[in-house]
Amino acid sequence: MTYVVIENCIKCKYMDCVEVCPVDCFYEGENMLVIHPDECIDCGVCEPECPAEAIKPDTERGLEKWLELNGAMAKAWPNVTVKRDPLPDAKAFDGRPGKYDEFFSAEPGKGD
Ligand code: SF4
Ligand code: SF4
Repeated sequence: MTYVVIENCIKCKYMDCVEVCPVDCFYEGENMLVIHPDECIDCGVCEPECPAEAIKPDTERGLEKWLELNGAMAKAWPNVTVKRDPLPDAKAFDGRPGKYDEFFSAEPGKGD
């Protein structure tokens, strides 16, 4: 089992989650973060920290696509453990549907 970052992180990237993870298993893309499924210890402390409610346990139904995306992108993106400012339009994009199709970017973020 692992926790996964889901669609509502895209274009928000508040980053509150990275500071609480005891094993530093968040990885940073240009406009979202992912969790490395092989490194996550399923502690669950990040889930309530996310203002966008974009972290879920992979035991929830329908998250297969997100589990796959977290695993693939965690191998391609840099590790991130230090919180920076959210993306400028985070509030406007929080909760907006269809963000994956419109805005997903495979480009890496800055990392630490
Ligand atoms: S706190 Fe939530 S929205 Fe922010 S980066 Fe982490 S998963 Fe994404
Ligand atoms: S569940 Fe725990 S180990 Fe997994 S990403 Fe969240 S804080 Fe890190």
